[in-house]
Amino acid sequence: MGGKRKFGQHFLIDESVVRKIIDFASISPDDTVVEIGPGRGILTSKLSGVSKRVIAIEIDRRLCSLLQDRLSTYKNISIINADALSYNYDEIPERFKVVSNLPYYLSTPITFKLIENRERIIDMILMFQREVADRIIANPGTKDYGNLSVVVQYRAEVHKLMDVGKGAFKPIPKVNSSVIRITPRKEPLVKVADEDLFFKIVKASFAYRRKTLKNNLKNLNFSDEFLGEVFKETDIKPSQRGETLSISDFARIANFIYSK
Ligand code: SAM
Repeated sequence: MGGKRKFGQHFLIDESVVRKIIDFASISPDDTVVEIGPGRGILTSKLSGVSKRVIAIEIDRRLCSLLQDRLSTYKNISIINADALSYNYDEIPERFKVVSNLPYYLSTPITFKLIENRERIIDMILMFQREVADRIIANPGTKDYGNLSVVVQYRAEVHKLMDVGKGAFKPIPKVNSSVIRITPRKEPLVKVADEDLFFKIVKASFAYRRKTLKNNLKNLNFSDEFLGEVFKETDIKPSQRGETLSISDFARIANFIYSK
């Protein structure tokens, strides 16, 4: 694997896609924007023109020096050579928007990291590999619905903005992309007594997609008898599959188990 490929570097070359991303972000002159992975700066320079300031976090040192040169006349851009996964977002004093064409290989962990920092974030316009975008926005009862859909939608409103074909990038990637908006919720979608327990139950419910909910939950070492009580009290069928449950169904299960 070449040095560049390892950072998931597929650069946007289609100006019309860049324009649409900037429009979707509806940035005002008071906004601070964080861009993860500015690459060669195609989005960065446009973001600079519409915002108060841009904080661009790029892991590749060589790209950082290229950007320092290329963007030196833009006074409101700070280029930070850091890993977006370990960067301390508390260093940014004000709340901010995030705009990014995410590196595919890290898009899920970066999304989780951003969601951890949700109180600091106004909203995010993010480009993902299409399959990942589809999983994030999926509704119950669909093949894409799973742990990622529940974890993100519990914390944020999600909305697909556009599909982007492979030809918009250089080098051309193997997969298609989609841009979605993720807006952190002030309060989670449903009330959950113990979030760790809730996430554990969600994860276990999707662990083996062909298994029933009951069989998946048995892996958490609950007895048959106890699970019988859980299903009865929450009015959920033990034969259902995880992907048929809404986020509030999962919350009902977790809250009942917590109360025992
Ligand atoms: N924004 C540019 C564009 O649209 O043309 C580049 C997008 S490219 C898909 C992803 C960028 O993220 C690359 O510049 C890559 O070096 C950078 N990157 C990869 N891993 C990163 C990480 N952990 N933290 C920050 N940037 C990262």
